[in-house]
Amino acid sequence: MGKLALLGGEKAVKGENLELFKWPIVNEEMEKKVLDVLRKGNMSGTDITKEFEKQFADWYGVKYALGTNNGTSALHCAFYGIGIGPGDEVICPSITYWASCMPVLSLGGTIVFADVDFNSLCIDPDDIERKIGENTKAIIVVHYCGYPADMDKIMKVAEKYKLKVVEDCSHSHGTLYKGKLTGTFGDVSAFSLMSGKSFAIGEGGIMLTNDKEIYERAITFGHYQRHNELTIDYLKKGAGLPWGGYKYRMHQMSSAVGLVQIKKYKKEMEEIDRAMNYFWDLLKGLPGIKPHRPPENSSLTMGGWYNPLGKYNSEELGGLSITKFCEALRAEGVDSFPGCNRPLHLHPVFKSIDVYGEGKPTNIARAKRDVRELFKSLPVSESIPKRVFSVPWFKKFIPEKIEQYAYGVRKVVENYEELLKYDEGDPEEIGGWSLSFSR
Ligand SMILES: *Cc1c(COP(=O)(O)O)cnc(C)c1O
Repeated sequence: MGKLALLGGEKAVKGENLELFKWPIVNEEMEKKVLDVLRKGNMSGTDITKEFEKQFADWYGVKYALGTNNGTSALHCAFYGIGIGPGDEVICPSITYWASCMPVLSLGGTIVFADVDFNSLCIDPDDIERKIGENTKAIIVVHYCGYPADMDKIMKVAEKYKLKVVEDCSHSHGTLYKGKLTGTFGDVSAFSLMSGKSFAIGEGGIMLTNDKEIYERAITFGHYQRHNELTIDYLKKGAGLPWGGYKYRMHQMSSAVGLVQIKKYKKEMEEIDRAMNYFWDLLKGLPGIKPHRPPENSSLTMGGWYNPLGKYNSEELGGLSITKFCEALRAEGVDSFPGCNRPLHLHPVFKSIDVYGEGKPTNIARAKRDVRELFKSLPVSESIPKRVFSVPWFKKFIPEKIEQYAYGVRKVVENYEELLKYDEGDPEEIGGWSLSFSR
């Protein structure tokens, strides 16, 4: 095994290998369709978006799909759709991107954080049950970094307490749980389709449901130009103006890209899956690291492997800090950073900040109990920054290149003792509030 690049040895990875990572994958048909939208001045229409919605709904086998200008607004529509209002509590995993839950604040609702399960990094079904109170209305599920959450257990809790389930599928386009698409288990699901996600079409989002009232409430809330679709009386009465005061129409340059992306996504997903599994298989048996992926031959899949992560066990590497470990990986040419989304329950906006000037912290302004007690300590979530690290997200299966990356990781693991001499430990804060742009 060669000398570590961090200590003056040769880099494991040769060149930049842009072809492995180029994202999103834009083809000629997309370019043509976008130009057509531009030339016809059809950016603000809804005809292309409606065709995209129809195809997306068919893929998922659901009745209704609503395109939005981003994933955050798809979630906002979903929360309004299921009727979240003042005093209602929703339960959300602490490890996720803020948009999974923050739109609830503007509806007067309260967010209660639950811990995550270290295996899946998704919400821990047992902790959901501990967080339920009289005013709990919904559970938010995030299939984190492509890994499907434990939907059997979650749906059982939801049924027992008559709670709504909102699936945030912004990481899990095409992910299967026991052979069934994530996003088809709950009452409603929402997807980000922005350029960094695995189903990437530009800025955009989509909301799916089989429930006509949820769909029509979402239209009423932020899609005034589609109020002619409303059929439910109490909603029709207020047609013409968006009840939320929001305009969430999807840009048709995005939905045009989406019409092409939906044709090629399955093939891209398969290639990513092959590449990522190849990478992790080459690292089998090494101490200190494990993949964040379902067991072999399970009926769980990783979809497009958005933001792939490894698990880190510092004890198996003589106590080496994850910060030094990732630094050594980067020196080898393996792009890697410690942590992922920081635990949301630690942020002051959920504990003390008075966003709307009500004289009280916004997250508990309308709550019937002080829920902050409930998320004082979420031990798994709090331990995660030092126990996970990002790994390269291979978009192409090029074995001889992927082997160089795996060699880089192996070299660092096998030479960990060298690194201990230079280890200064971890800084106080690891990871970021978002995954891609904060590092
Ligand atoms: C990206 C993301 C969103 C928000 O989507 P935008 O399109 O960026 O608004 C919501 N939830 C999760 C988990 C995400 O990663």
